[in-house]
Amino acid sequence: MLEAKGIAKSFNGFAAVGGVSLAVPAGGVTAVIGPNGAGKSTLFNLLTGHLVPDSGSVAFQGRDITGAAPHAICRMGIGRSFQHTNIFKKLTVFGNVQAALIAHRRKAHQFWTRSEGLYRDEALALLEALGLADKADAVADSLSHGNQKQLELGIALASDPAMLLLDEPTAGMSATETREAIRLLERIVADRQLTLLFTEHDMEVVFQIAQKIAVLHQGRLIAEGTPAEVRNDPEVRRVYLGGGH
Ligand code: ADP
Ligand code: MG
Repeated sequence: MLEAKGIAKSFNGFAAVGGVSLAVPAGGVTAVIGPNGAGKSTLFNLLTGHLVPDSGSVAFQGRDITGAAPHAICRMGIGRSFQHTNIFKKLTVFGNVQAALIAHRRKAHQFWTRSEGLYRDEALALLEALGLADKADAVADSLSHGNQKQLELGIALASDPAMLLLDEPTAGMSATETREAIRLLERIVADRQLTLLFTEHDMEVVFQIAQKIAVLHQGRLIAEGTPAEVRNDPEVRRVYLGGGH
């Protein structure tokens, strides 16, 4: 579905991502794990056009998307969320999803016509799927952190993606919120037959839902494989999973 070959990105001479090759199989759940500062968010930004790699290439469904703009990559079918919540805080929950639907679907020549009722049914259906229907009229800012992250997922889904990239989808959530969010995510991925690539600091979540795990350390992939393979990899245990913490 997605294939990165040797992608690299440095900031002022510091190699945040130092030549990473990663293949994400279609229809599967793949996790990228690694300590803070390993380069996970930078890698995602390189895959979605928010950063342009210094070298290497990215292909999505066989098409070269290296250096393409984020909106173009989104249109091709990659939806994403960010490590830090990225919603319109002053809009209602409904308004956030509606805005995302309009941004993705509306033809340019319709842009300035009235929009209040546009995609109402689609927006409500999406909120229903997210378990946010009863909060449709709430201002996004007033939602719990967990619900704001769910709303972010809804915004990503509004572009009707074939693939989702989620950067720490449960960041800042309580244990209960995390469990609910993962259950929701698993259901949505299965229902829509999405390919999912995500980063996550909670190893319980990772080993529960990922079929493939890639381990980043200091900008490089040090292991890649099934959860069992990664769990037993001596290098991974040394730098990440082990170490007595
Ligand atoms: P992770 O998401 O795994 O915690 P990041 O990709 O956010 O890691 O960061 C990897 C490294 O690159 C860190 O050392 C970080 O400080 C650095 N970095 C990330 N973005 C920038 C930037 N825009 N400018 C300078 N350094 C950056
Ligand atoms: Mg990060």
